[in-house]
Amino acid sequence: MGQKSFFSDCQKQLREIASQLKLGPEILQELEEPHRIIKFQIPVLMDNGEKKIFFGFRSQHNNALGPYKGGIRYHPNVSEDEIKALSMLMTWKCSLVGLPFGGAKGGVIVNPKELTQKELENLSRGYVKEVFPLIGPEKDIPAPDVNTDPQIMAWMVDEYSKLKGKETPAAFTGKPLEMWGLEGRSEATGYGGVVILKKLQEIFGFKPEKTTLAIQGFGNVGSNFARFAALSGYKIVAVSEAEGGIYVEEGLNPEEVLRCRERKGKIAGCYCVGSVCDSSYGRQITNKELLEMEVDILVPAAVENVISKDNAQKIKAKYIIEMANGPVTPEAQEILEKRGIISVPDFLANAGGVVASYFEWLQSKEKRRWKKEETFKGLAKKLGQAFEKVWALSQREKINLRKAAYLLAIEKVAKAIKK
Ligand code: NAD
Repeated sequence: MGQKSFFSDCQKQLREIASQLKLGPEILQELEEPHRIIKFQIPVLMDNGEKKIFFGFRSQHNNALGPYKGGIRYHPNVSEDEIKALSMLMTWKCSLVGLPFGGAKGGVIVNPKELTQKELENLSRGYVKEVFPLIGPEKDIPAPDVNTDPQIMAWMVDEYSKLKGKETPAAFTGKPLEMWGLEGRSEATGYGGVVILKKLQEIFGFKPEKTTLAIQGFGNVGSNFARFAALSGYKIVAVSEAEGGIYVEEGLNPEEVLRCRERKGKIAGCYCVGSVCDSSYGRQITNKELLEMEVDILVPAAVENVISKDNAQKIKAKYIIEMANGPVTPEAQEILEKRGIISVPDFLANAGGVVASYFEWLQSKEKRRWKKEETFKGLAKKLGQAFEKVWALSQREKINLRKAAYLLAIEKVAKAIKK
């Protein structure tokens, strides 16, 4: 038995599905490992005049459906195992939502908070120099991920264009607007989650004003999910960040909470109902309390593994929309299923970001600006269709949504390989 790891868990999942789909050994062999994984040194000139070596990775898992696609993360815990696993998950995600992309992921072992802006720029340009021959608009298109942002993409696309000898905005997505970045890209993942919420509403007949939500994580994904859900009339009773959260029985106003947090630097005390923030409304809660709260829908939108075998029995929500990557462990999934809790898997629920990246890629290639409404409309269509297929298969085969999503995603990649 090999050592247990994130990547070996992904391989295990793949093998189970492959045996059910009766995939031949050659296809399984191809999908079990990335097509290519490179590990390289990035020499970076530091502000003190010295050179420091960082380690970078790029894993290109599969390109049967189109160019490899996936973010680049900067984090001290980046490892080859993690990057390989995430690149495989990108293959499934792009396949499931019908994008002409394969899967990739990249990373650098670094704590970016310890670097100055200039050092961060040198590192980002250095990364591109190392992977330049392997990436490009029709080969492999990187994007932001943990601790990387539009500014870093701007340095990267500029470096790529210099090496190429011509401006090539379609080589990266998640860029600033003035470099062919997409309007609405930053809201796209949260917006996509609410598309899924509305699909559940169609099936289960939720009355938004009577349906309560608790959202863990109030960063890019969580706060945008909250904003769009509130606009659709849903009652958000709890939100949180790493330090803890707030509970407002009356239902809170996410826009006001965002403004309040901007002023105070934290969510605590931002009990905002309508346009008023007042401590007579709410109370402070811990993340543990939020997850185990008596609500209709729970939205983990922060970090991985927050619903595990330790708390799965205590979850009271009837539905979970997994906006973070990997918030529910495999053991917890089993417990939730036995308890009749419906969980929409991460690689469907949070796919709005990569769908928007696809639109940005088209925009950058065709040099035709997409309007935000057009982006949101296209996104709702792609995610809505993917959800409907997953739902139909889960009903027909009496399996959970995660399994149905894997079956559809992997089958499509396997067919493309055969062709
Ligand atoms: P972010 O950094 O903007 O926000 C993260 C939020 O989670 C913050 O509010 C932070 O305080 C909170 N948080 C951090 N640690 C926590 C903890 N231990 N307990 C509770 N809260 C905690 O990040 P984001 O872009 O919103 O991403 C959130 C999740 O969604 C991640 O899992 C990410 O991989 C996933 N995701 C993001 C995108 C995207 O487009 N941004 C796309 C797909 C998936």
